[in-house]
Amino acid sequence: MSQVRVLLAALVFFWARSLVRSERPAHNRAVMRSNRIGPIRPPLCRAKAMYATPYRSAMDCPVCGKDCVQTADEIIVSLADRFSPCVGCRGRFLDKNTPPPDATIVSPCSCGKRFIDDVFAHIHRIMVEEGVLQHDSPLIRVGTPLIHPGTVLLHPPYLPPRSLLLLSRTVTKACAQRIITEVPETRGVVQCSDFVPGAADVDLQKAPRTYELLAGCDVRADVFPMSPVPIVIYKEQSKIHIEFPHARNPKLETVIKRVTYARPDVFVDALCGAGTLGIAAAFMGVKRIILNDAWYAAVYWTAFNIELNAANLLISGVNFLEPYAALQEKPLVQETKKIAESSGEQQIQVFQGDFRNLQNIVPRDVRVLSAIDLFKKDDPDANERILKEWRDRVGGEVFIP
Ligand SMILES: [Zn+2]
Ligand SMILES: [Zn+2]
Repeated sequence: MSQVRVLLAALVFFWARSLVRSERPAHNRAVMRSNRIGPIRPPLCRAKAMYATPYRSAMDCPVCGKDCVQTADEIIVSLADRFSPCVGCRGRFLDKNTPPPDATIVSPCSCGKRFIDDVFAHIHRIMVEEGVLQHDSPLIRVGTPLIHPGTVLLHPPYLPPRSLLLLSRTVTKACAQRIITEVPETRGVVQCSDFVPGAADVDLQKAPRTYELLAGCDVRADVFPMSPVPIVIYKEQSKIHIEFPHARNPKLETVIKRVTYARPDVFVDALCGAGTLGIAAAFMGVKRIILNDAWYAAVYWTAFNIELNAANLLISGVNFLEPYAALQEKPLVQETKKIAESSGEQQIQVFQGDFRNLQNIVPRDVRVLSAIDLFKKDDPDANERILKEWRDRVGGEVFIP
């Protein structure tokens, strides 16, 4: 609960302070092959050359059924200037702790983009008209912006159409519909709350909680720095916790270090969420990857993301053994079942179930490296208990990233 508060506060703070950061964007780092977390790949890397095999997926968005999902290559290529102004763009920096100074609605530029503060002023006005906010409510009360795709920004963003997912605690369904209809930059409006969506209880005793998608679609991508190309991770934001790409990503750095030193035959991402860490190990050329989560949204989007990033893996495709609708019917399961697997040189498998059942899946006679990305890591005794149990039952090296 406190984690989501901190994360949301950090995102609001980032948006609110409107400062220019000095990091170069992930795309540039990838192109320059000078990733902050590298050097990574040689000699382990067997991945294909950047964009050598454009991978086209036939996947439609399972939430809205429309074409809101782009390929990883399309997203990476478009990143360089996606949130930058054109020479004609004019944005107003607004004080986030006061209401907008007037009722002006600044139209998007002819290039299609509009400065984030002007977009928020527009949404503020709709929220006032719908009774969600008062005239004197500060701009920050509009909500938390999640841009699509999420990436490290050099400046506060100029938003192109359908690039904003809005999280709001107070928005109503009618207001959300109006925002989607009248504000072209929005792709979805989600009513959030004071908890982290998705499976948080390692013992699977508490049912996962989700936010509510009120209008549009909540599927969006984050782009994580990796060498030689970034990893693109899609997720349903109302059902999976927010992961925000930073210039430094300690979890990814840990995985890269551990894989580099251990050179495992098998990498296990035992609590995989949307699959970022396991896919990172796959990018590094590990031949067999086992990803697992008990929560249906996590395993579906993990399988989806493996296929999405297939052009940069040694796989020819992903076979989904359980369609999205079937997974929805049993959202949290304990007994382990395989829900997707790759074809090709790398064997990448996705399982749904209690991660402690993976002892029956993980092979014994090879080098195994396992990551257990616990939701709560603040109890050292509990962490050690889980690691010891894993060592006793599965063996190999194990760490909590
Ligand atoms: Zn969609
Ligand atoms: Zn412009």
